[in-house]
Amino acid sequence: DLTINKIAAGEVVEAPYSVVKELVENAIDAGASTITLEIKDGGKKYIRITDNGAGIKEEYVEKAFMRHSTSKITNIDDLNNINSLGFRGEALASIAAVSQAEMITRPDEQQYGILIEITGGKTEIIRKVGCPVGTTIIIKNLFFNTPARLKFMKSNNAETMKITEIIIRLSLSNPGIAFKYINNNNIMFTTPGNNILSQAILSVFDKDTFKNLISLEQNELNMKLHGYIGQPSFVRGNRNLQIIYVNGRYVKNKLISKAIEEAYKEKIIINKHPVCILNLNIDPSLIDVNVHPAKTEVKFEAEEQIYDFIYKSIISALQQNTT
Ligand code: ADP
Ligand code: MG
Repeated sequence: DLTINKIAAGEVVEAPYSVVKELVENAIDAGASTITLEIKDGGKKYIRITDNGAGIKEEYVEKAFMRHSTSKITNIDDLNNINSLGFRGEALASIAAVSQAEMITRPDEQQYGILIEITGGKTEIIRKVGCPVGTTIIIKNLFFNTPARLKFMKSNNAETMKITEIIIRLSLSNPGIAFKYINNNNIMFTTPGNNILSQAILSVFDKDTFKNLISLEQNELNMKLHGYIGQPSFVRGNRNLQIIYVNGRYVKNKLISKAIEEAYKEKIIINKHPVCILNLNIDPSLIDVNVHPAKTEVKFEAEEQIYDFIYKSIISALQQNTT
């Protein structure tokens, strides 16, 4: 039902950046090795994501835009075993309900692609087209049919900044994927996709910013922390650029963020968030594996030990940097 979809969209789609996040995550889930994101006017007017991933089979294209339709889990047991970013099957339906959406998609084994155009949740066009393998999705005029939400969008610059943070985070979380980010016809960055994190970082941040990143490498008995942290002056209003992996898996974790931020506070009084790209490798027995299936969550058995280790590592990296 179109109205239900429009209401449900409110949960998934807050602003252009949430569209970018969901659609780029879909491209990652589809196993793409190259992903292009193009936006115009803060993503309000135009968002395009092109990937070379698995594509969607003809018979599934229209279904993919229906609520709760996902190809990623088929039964409840899968919830404990999720290795995709999406699994609720809500993003496409929600986004298409509040925009003019257009998708061209083709799996390898199909000789043609399918073009579908959906306006405000209603399919206008669906037909075969010639196209390369993969998926291109274009979202135009987000919230065109929900005036209240349209009003809440921030300036082009503010919306662009949020999108930039999201695409940086996704690019650095996936150094094995070659990303290209285009804003108002300017190429903002391209990453090599060669799985070398330092090279991805170098492509994403401008050279001066990168030069000023502080490299960090600390070892303890059963833990290792390595990566890059920002200068105390390089802070953000949110934690989008605190990119942390635990044993190779991207996580969001309050304990880790807190340890990092408290360490910075020894150096400088800040109430904003420092930037980092860090890998924590720890003995798997120190991780509680029985956590929520949303795979960005992680819980530690030895919280205090991990907190102290990270805190000390950051302090020492910051100290080495200024002396
Ligand atoms: P979810 O990601 O939670 O499964 P979505 O609404 O984001 O739900 O997507 C619905 C389905 O559409 C996915 O499960 C997937 O099968 C398909 N899909 C969406 N985007 C892509 C893409 N870029 N490449 C291949 N398949 C896609
Ligand atoms: Mg998804």
